[in-house]
Amino acid sequence: MAGSKYAYVKNYELPDNLLPGTFMIMRIDGHGFHRFSTEHSFAKPNDERALRLMDCAAQSVMDEYKDIVLAFGESDEYSFLFRKDTKLYNRRQTKLLSLILSLFTSSYIFHWPKFFPDESLNYPPSFDARIVLYPSAKEVRDYFAWRQVDTHINNLYNTAFWALVQQGGESTTRAHALLKGTVSAQKHELLFSRFGINYNGIPARFRKGSVLVRDEVKDARESGGHDFVPDAGTRTDLSEGSPLPDSSLAAGATPVAHQGKKKVKAIKTVRILHEDIVRNEFWDARPELLD
Ligand code: ATP
Ligand code: ATP
Ligand code: MG
Ligand code: MG
Ligand code: MG
Ligand code: MG
Ligand code: MG
Repeated sequence: MAGSKYAYVKNYELPDNLLPGTFMIMRIDGHGFHRFSTEHSFAKPNDERALRLMDCAAQSVMDEYKDIVLAFGESDEYSFLFRKDTKLYNRRQTKLLSLILSLFTSSYIFHWPKFFPDESLNYPPSFDARIVLYPSAKEVRDYFAWRQVDTHINNLYNTAFWALVQQGGESTTRAHALLKGTVSAQKHELLFSRFGINYNGIPARFRKGSVLVRDEVKDARESGGHDFVPDAGTRTDLSEGSPLPDSSLAAGATPVAHQGKKKVKAIKTVRILHEDIVRNEFWDARPELLD
């Protein structure tokens, strides 16, 4: 169909398809969350409600975009790994960035009241986002290791810092000064000797961040019936809202297989883990992530 004489302006839109055959990782990060966390009374160093809300927003994204195979979250950020061969929106960068970023943001706001029933949202939060392309499995592994090591470094520092302030009665200035130049072992020692805190005893969610994966479960009963929501269709309904129990984000459940007369459901569930993704075990168990 011939356009109007004005239609030529469309030609000013430039293609922005991302290189094929590369791994796309999209990272979202809260804008000004230092202030946002203060103004919404986040517990320090780790507000669990806020972390679960981030997990929930990330889950919305994975429910909608099946080509995302893995996500990792910490603090106010989330990273999403796409299947290497994804053809989603013809790999158009701005399309992918804008859609996924806005879905994440709207989901964060949408689900806010369920995670913060007693805390009104004082102003609209926003997030930034970028997509980085990586040429091979090595960089993808190193990327996720980088983020999880970052989680560890920040969390150890913050745990020591807030122990000094909240339990030790130190000023924030003095707490910073006390920690300046300390290595990891010294922070462990300080936490233990001065505050009786065994760092390895604090929740894995805080120490390791959140890992979202799609795991196949053959039948609802395999899971013991409680660590995912079976048969939830293509979307997970979190509208009941109470934060999900640990290791239990749920389901884009699709019946796919018949075995004999009995219908066997192969169910893909989005599962939340708080485990090591630096070492080989996690990746060896899921070779399809780096295919
Ligand atoms: P920028 O806009 O550059 O990203 P920022 O203020 O968001 O700036 P970040 O480096 O992203 O800075 O750090 C996020 C900050 O948000 C943390 O330092 C912490 O103060 C706060 N924060 C995020 N999530 C939580 C949480 N679950 N519990 C407590 N504080 C949090
Ligand atoms: P931008 O203004 O583009 O958001 P940024 O400083 O927030 O820049 P990010 O790529 O978002 O950069 O960085 C995310 C994380 O990486 C943060 O925890 C930050 O401390 C860390 N980081 C940033 N630059 C480096 C670097 N050159 N080396 C190591 N860590 C870095
Ligand atoms: Mg950033
Ligand atoms: Mg930044
Ligand atoms: Mg931020
Ligand atoms: Mg951040
Ligand atoms: Mg459009």
